[in-house]
Amino acid sequence: MISVAIDGPAGAGKSTLSRRVAEKLGYIYVDTGALYRTVGLKFINLGYDTELNCDIEEILSKTDIEIKYINGEQRVFLDKVDVSEDIRTPNASMMASAVSAKPPVRAFLLEMQRKLARGNNVVMDGRDIGTVVLPNATVKIFLTASVKARADRRYKELCEKGIETDYKSVYDDIEKRDYNDSHRDIAPLKPADDSVLADTTKLNVEQSLELLLKIVKEGIK
Ligand code: C5P
Repeated sequence: MISVAIDGPAGAGKSTLSRRVAEKLGYIYVDTGALYRTVGLKFINLGYDTELNCDIEEILSKTDIEIKYINGEQRVFLDKVDVSEDIRTPNASMMASAVSAKPPVRAFLLEMQRKLARGNNVVMDGRDIGTVVLPNATVKIFLTASVKARADRRYKELCEKGIETDYKSVYDDIEKRDYNDSHRDIAPLKPADDSVLADTTKLNVEQSLELLLKIVKEGIK
Protein backbone atom coordinates (compact mmCIF):
# COMPACT_ATOMS: atom_id res chain seq x y z
CA MET A 1 0.00 0.00 0.00
CA ILE A 2 1.15 3.54 -0.71
CA SER A 3 0.71 6.26 1.89
CA VAL A 4 1.24 9.98 1.52
CA ALA A 5 1.50 11.80 4.86
CA ILE A 6 0.76 15.52 4.79
CA ASP A 7 1.32 17.37 8.07
CA GLY A 8 1.31 21.03 8.92
CA PRO A 9 -0.30 23.81 10.94
CA ALA A 10 -3.93 24.93 10.83
CA GLY A 11 -4.98 26.69 7.64
CA ALA A 12 -2.01 25.68 5.48
CA GLY A 13 -4.43 24.24 2.92
CA LYS A 14 -3.87 20.63 3.98
CA SER A 15 -7.42 19.41 3.53
CA THR A 16 -8.12 21.08 0.17
CA LEU A 17 -4.77 20.01 -1.24
CA SER A 18 -4.74 16.52 0.26
CA ARG A 19 -8.21 15.87 -1.15
CA ARG A 20 -7.11 17.03 -4.61
CA VAL A 21 -3.89 14.98 -4.48
CA ALA A 22 -5.90 11.90 -3.46
CA GLU A 23 -8.36 12.46 -6.32
CA LYS A 24 -5.54 12.75 -8.85
CA LEU A 25 -3.89 9.57 -7.62
CA GLY A 26 -7.10 7.60 -7.05
CA TYR A 27 -6.28 7.12 -3.34
CA ILE A 28 -8.60 7.72 -0.42
CA TYR A 29 -8.27 10.94 1.53
CA VAL A 30 -8.16 10.65 5.30
CA ASP A 31 -8.74 13.89 7.19
CA THR A 32 -7.48 13.04 10.68
CA GLY A 33 -8.29 16.50 12.07
CA ALA A 34 -11.96 15.52 11.64
CA LEU A 35 -11.41 12.71 14.16
CA TYR A 36 -10.00 15.06 16.82
CA ARG A 37 -12.83 17.49 16.10
CA THR A 38 -15.33 14.69 16.59
CA VAL A 39 -13.83 13.77 19.96
CA GLY A 40 -13.92 17.50 20.80
CA LEU A 41 -17.60 17.66 19.87
CA LYS A 42 -18.37 14.77 22.19
CA PHE A 43 -16.94 16.75 25.13
CA ILE A 44 -18.76 19.92 24.02
CA ASN A 45 -22.02 17.97 23.87
CA LEU A 46 -21.39 16.75 27.40
CA GLY A 47 -20.97 20.36 28.54
CA TYR A 48 -17.20 20.43 29.13
CA ASP A 49 -14.89 23.30 28.16
CA THR A 50 -11.21 23.22 27.13
CA GLU A 51 -10.15 22.65 30.77
CA LEU A 52 -11.54 19.12 30.38
CA ASN A 53 -12.15 18.56 34.05
CA CYS A 54 -13.47 15.04 33.63
CA ASP A 55 -12.49 11.39 33.37
CA ILE A 56 -11.44 11.36 29.72
CA GLU A 57 -10.86 7.61 29.48
CA GLU A 58 -14.26 6.83 30.95
CA ILE A 59 -15.94 9.10 28.39
CA LEU A 60 -13.92 7.64 25.51
CA SER A 61 -14.96 4.14 26.53
CA LYS A 62 -18.52 5.25 25.80
CA THR A 63 -17.70 7.02 22.53
CA ASP A 64 -18.22 5.49 19.13
CA ILE A 65 -16.47 7.15 16.18
CA GLU A 66 -16.64 5.84 12.64
CA ILE A 67 -15.34 7.08 9.32
CA LYS A 68 -17.34 6.22 6.21
CA TYR A 69 -16.77 7.08 2.58
CA ILE A 70 -19.99 8.17 0.92
CA ASN A 71 -19.63 8.98 -2.80
CA GLY A 72 -15.88 9.16 -2.24
CA GLU A 73 -16.34 11.78 0.48
CA GLN A 74 -15.20 11.19 4.07
CA ARG A 75 -18.00 11.47 6.63
CA VAL A 76 -17.55 11.11 10.38
CA PHE A 77 -20.11 9.62 12.73
CA LEU A 78 -20.24 10.28 16.46
CA ASP A 79 -22.34 7.75 18.33
CA LYS A 80 -24.01 6.84 15.00
CA VAL A 81 -24.85 10.46 14.07
CA ASP A 82 -23.22 12.12 11.04
CA VAL A 83 -21.43 15.17 12.52
CA SER A 84 -19.32 16.06 9.45
CA GLU A 85 -20.70 19.61 9.37
CA ASP A 86 -21.07 20.18 13.14
CA ILE A 87 -17.32 19.71 13.69
CA ARG A 88 -16.39 22.71 11.54
CA THR A 89 -17.24 25.53 13.98
CA PRO A 90 -14.50 27.65 15.63
CA ASN A 91 -15.59 26.21 18.99
CA ALA A 92 -15.06 22.64 17.75
CA SER A 93 -11.62 23.68 16.40
CA MET A 94 -10.49 24.91 19.80
CA MET A 95 -11.89 21.87 21.56
CA ALA A 96 -10.14 19.60 19.02
CA SER A 97 -6.85 21.28 19.88
CA ALA A 98 -7.53 20.80 23.62
CA VAL A 99 -8.49 17.11 23.43
CA SER A 100 -5.63 16.36 21.04
CA ALA A 101 -3.09 17.13 23.79
CA LYS A 102 -4.51 14.29 25.91
CA PRO A 103 -2.66 10.97 25.56
CA PRO A 104 -5.80 8.78 25.92
CA VAL A 105 -7.41 10.66 23.02
CA ARG A 106 -4.38 10.13 20.77
CA ALA A 107 -4.22 6.45 21.70
CA PHE A 108 -7.95 6.09 21.02
CA LEU A 109 -7.59 7.42 17.46
CA LEU A 110 -4.21 5.91 16.53
CA GLU A 111 -5.30 2.43 15.51
CA MET A 112 -8.26 3.78 13.54
CA GLN A 113 -5.87 5.82 11.41
CA ARG A 114 -3.34 3.03 10.94
CA LYS A 115 -6.05 0.59 9.93
CA LEU A 116 -7.21 2.87 7.13
CA ALA A 117 -3.65 3.03 5.77
CA ARG A 118 -3.20 -0.74 6.02
CA GLY A 119 -6.21 -1.42 3.82
CA ASN A 120 -5.99 1.42 1.27
CA ASN A 121 -3.67 3.66 -0.65
CA VAL A 122 -4.11 6.89 1.29
CA VAL A 123 -3.35 10.54 1.41
CA MET A 124 -3.62 11.26 5.13
CA ASP A 125 -3.38 14.74 6.58
CA GLY A 126 -2.84 15.84 10.17
CA ARG A 127 -0.13 16.96 12.57
CA ASP A 128 1.74 13.75 13.41
CA ILE A 129 1.11 11.47 10.45
CA GLY A 130 4.72 11.34 9.26
CA THR A 131 6.18 11.33 12.79
CA VAL A 132 3.86 9.00 14.73
CA VAL A 133 0.90 7.52 12.86
CA LEU A 134 2.69 6.35 9.69
CA PRO A 135 6.42 6.58 10.38
CA ASN A 136 7.02 4.42 7.29
CA ALA A 137 4.83 6.50 4.95
CA THR A 138 5.94 6.34 1.32
CA VAL A 139 6.04 10.14 1.01
CA LYS A 140 6.02 12.72 3.80
CA ILE A 141 5.23 16.36 3.21
CA PHE A 142 5.26 19.20 5.72
CA LEU A 143 2.91 21.83 4.36
CA THR A 144 3.11 25.32 5.77
CA ALA A 145 2.48 29.03 5.10
CA SER A 146 2.78 32.27 7.08
CA VAL A 147 0.22 32.89 9.85
CA LYS A 148 -1.23 35.80 7.85
CA ALA A 149 -1.69 33.75 4.68
CA ARG A 150 -3.34 30.99 6.68
CA ALA A 151 -5.63 33.38 8.58
CA ASP A 152 -6.69 35.03 5.30
CA ARG A 153 -7.63 31.68 3.80
CA ARG A 154 -9.40 30.35 6.88
CA TYR A 155 -11.42 33.58 7.23
CA LYS A 156 -12.53 33.41 3.61
CA GLU A 157 -13.47 29.75 3.99
CA LEU A 158 -15.57 30.38 7.13
CA CYS A 159 -17.33 33.34 5.47
CA GLU A 160 -18.13 31.21 2.42
CA LYS A 161 -19.63 28.56 4.68
CA GLY A 162 -21.77 31.23 6.35
CA ILE A 163 -20.08 30.69 9.74
CA GLU A 164 -20.11 34.01 11.55
CA THR A 165 -16.72 35.21 12.76
CA ASP A 166 -14.32 38.15 12.65
CA TYR A 167 -10.83 38.30 11.16
CA LYS A 168 -8.98 39.01 14.38
CA SER A 169 -10.39 36.01 16.18
CA VAL A 170 -9.54 33.75 13.22
CA TYR A 171 -5.95 35.08 13.26
CA ASP A 172 -5.67 34.70 17.04
CA ASP A 173 -7.16 31.19 16.95
CA ILE A 174 -4.60 30.10 14.38
CA GLU A 175 -1.72 31.48 16.44
CA LYS A 176 -3.07 29.88 19.58
CA ARG A 177 -3.61 26.50 17.90
CA ASP A 178 -0.11 26.64 16.38
CA TYR A 179 1.26 27.22 19.85
CA ASN A 180 -0.81 24.44 21.46
CA ASP A 181 -0.10 21.96 18.68
CA SER A 182 3.65 22.52 18.63
CA HIS A 183 4.19 22.75 22.38
CA ARG A 184 2.26 19.75 23.62
CA ASP A 185 4.31 16.90 25.11
CA ILE A 186 2.76 14.18 23.04
CA ALA A 187 3.04 14.02 19.23
CA PRO A 188 3.76 17.76 18.82
CA LEU A 189 3.44 19.37 15.42
CA LYS A 190 6.89 19.21 13.82
CA PRO A 191 8.27 18.11 10.46
CA ALA A 192 9.43 14.49 10.28
CA ASP A 193 13.18 14.31 9.64
CA ASP A 194 12.54 12.71 6.27
CA SER A 195 9.74 15.05 5.16
CA VAL A 196 9.81 17.47 2.26
CA LEU A 197 8.90 21.05 3.16
CA ALA A 198 6.24 22.75 1.01
CA ASP A 199 5.65 26.45 1.74
CA THR A 200 2.48 27.77 0.09
CA THR A 201 2.58 31.37 1.39
CA LYS A 202 3.02 32.77 -2.11
CA LEU A 203 1.23 30.05 -4.05
CA ASN A 204 -2.40 29.76 -5.04
CA VAL A 205 -4.26 26.45 -4.83
CA GLU A 206 -3.36 25.29 -8.35
CA GLN A 207 0.33 26.13 -7.88
CA SER A 208 0.38 24.41 -4.49
CA LEU A 209 -1.27 21.34 -6.00
CA GLU A 210 1.31 21.22 -8.74
CA LEU A 211 4.10 21.41 -6.15
CA LEU A 212 2.63 18.60 -4.05
CA LEU A 213 2.03 16.32 -7.03
CA LYS A 214 5.62 16.84 -8.08
CA ILE A 215 6.88 15.90 -4.59
CA VAL A 216 4.60 12.84 -4.47
CA LYS A 217 5.59 11.62 -7.93
CA GLU A 218 9.27 11.92 -7.04
CA GLY A 219 8.63 10.07 -3.78
CA ILE A 220 6.75 7.08 -5.19
CA LYS A 221 9.08 6.55 -8.16
O1 C5P B 1 -6.68 19.85 10.82
P1 C5P B 1 -7.74 20.40 11.73
O2 C5P B 1 -7.70 21.89 11.86
O3 C5P B 1 -9.10 19.92 11.39
O4 C5P B 1 -7.38 19.78 13.17
C1 C5P B 1 -8.04 20.16 14.34
C2 C5P B 1 -7.13 19.98 15.54
O5 C5P B 1 -6.92 18.57 15.76
C3 C5P B 1 -5.72 20.56 15.40
O6 C5P B 1 -5.61 21.88 15.86
C4 C5P B 1 -4.87 19.63 16.24
O7 C5P B 1 -4.85 20.06 17.57
C5 C5P B 1 -5.60 18.32 16.20
N1 C5P B 1 -4.96 17.32 15.34
C6 C5P B 1 -3.93 16.57 15.87
N2 C5P B 1 -3.38 15.56 15.14
C7 C5P B 1 -3.81 15.31 13.91
C8 C5P B 1 -4.84 16.08 13.33
C9 C5P B 1 -5.40 17.10 14.09
O8 C5P B 1 -3.52 16.81 17.00
N3 C5P B 1 -3.26 14.29 13.23
